[in-house]
Amino acid sequence: MKELYCDLHIVGGALTGLLAAYCASDLGFKIIVSERKKLNFNNKKITDDTRTTAIAEGSKAFLESQGLWKLIKNFAEPIKKIKVVDITANSNLNFYNPIPQSNLGYIVKNSKLISILISELKKKINVNFETDSNIKSISNYNKKIISLSNSKKIISKLIIAADGKNSTVRKLLRTNLFKKNYNEKAVVINFFHESPHKNTAYEFFLKTGPMAILPMQTEKRRNQSALIWSNEPGIVDLIARSGLHSQYVKEILNEKIYPYLGNVTKINSIQAFPLSAHINEKFYNDKTIYVGDAAHSIHPIAGQGWNLGLRDVKTVKELLFKFKEQDLEIGTKNFCKMYNDSCYYDAYRLYEITDKLDWVFKKDQPYFKFLKKTGFNLINKNTALKERIVQFAMGV
Ligand SMILES: Cc1cc2nc3c(=O)[nH]c(=O)nc-3n(C[C@H](O)[C@H](O)[C@H](O)COP(=O)(O)OP(=O)(O)OC[C@H]3O[C@@H](n4cnc5c(N)ncnc54)[C@H](O)[C@@H]3O)c2cc1C
Repeated sequence: MKELYCDLHIVGGALTGLLAAYCASDLGFKIIVSERKKLNFNNKKITDDTRTTAIAEGSKAFLESQGLWKLIKNFAEPIKKIKVVDITANSNLNFYNPIPQSNLGYIVKNSKLISILISELKKKINVNFETDSNIKSISNYNKKIISLSNSKKIISKLIIAADGKNSTVRKLLRTNLFKKNYNEKAVVINFFHESPHKNTAYEFFLKTGPMAILPMQTEKRRNQSALIWSNEPGIVDLIARSGLHSQYVKEILNEKIYPYLGNVTKINSIQAFPLSAHINEKFYNDKTIYVGDAAHSIHPIAGQGWNLGLRDVKTVKELLFKFKEQDLEIGTKNFCKMYNDSCYYDAYRLYEITDKLDWVFKKDQPYFKFLKKTGFNLINKNTALKERIVQFAMGV
């Protein structure tokens, strides 16, 4: 069996794992990224993920500090205004950006983010990829941690588990978690439409679940947006199965977006995602830390899941820098616990906020309608409170 040695073994090569590899690479660590999927790096279509990510202003600042934003910004559509409509209580809220020279957020295609990260990582001599690689066991030996995959033994000082919400590392190390199934799915539809979106993002609270319309970059001068709609699994599956040329989907979409974006002119992609949330009991184990969805996953109602994962990576980078500077061993209990203590509360708080938002906005009993209407009125009248909410969403 072939043996490979490294400082950091990053398990999972999607948004969080790739970002972690990129950020740690310039500290000089020898890194192996192992990814379960068979990736063909020369193929233009590196991922099937047709989603977009709303990147918060605070996350943009971190990407800028790592030299990544200059590569991403050409593919990022700014959000300048957010319109929130609670259909169940017939109330509206408009949010504008109170901070000059910044935006409420940026919409970027996941496929773009992934291909930028991969092409940057391919230039690094201290980063190697092991794709089509699935971990079968993890064990400790002296100050090292050893993972066995199909035909390779990877020996490292620290495993950074970035293998998503069904993390294999978490299962192998028996780290407990709290999980919640929403019994909902989200359908994500990217489409061209007649009228410009004017950089406005919409969030509608419907009885069946939240629906967002996000402004995307124009393509071949055609206006483009993404719709993310949480609903009963049966309805979402029906829409997702209908296909790009379905008149039925076009009609549903037109019904939802016509007053804001005019008619749909072309549907570019449709994908469905089951919705669940979880939080690990702790974000570390022996010589292992969990980042991104391997540590926590939240309802997409506020578009914050990857922003949270990015903050995990920011903390990892700061700790790696500190430990290296002081010539301290990485992967120690001290290292892993410091990471856990810096990140856990942030994730737990967002988990609670997004969970309760989804819960309350689906309620349409008179008592809840009254509460929501009163809440919207209060925020509308209180500029300071409104700014505080905006800053929270922007992550600044
Ligand atoms: C509908 C929807 C919309 C969203 N919108 C937003 C948004 O606007 N803004 C935002 O911030 N967040 C958003 N999110 C959340 C965001 O998409 C996730 O937080 C993010 O994609 C998680 O990335 P990740 O790399 O941590 O995990 P994943 O994307 O799950 O990647 C895990 C990777 O690990 C690999 N892997 C799995 N098992 C193994 C193994 N055993 N060995 C090796 N590799 C393995 C997988 O193949 C995969 O490549 C949204 C989520 C949903 C569902």
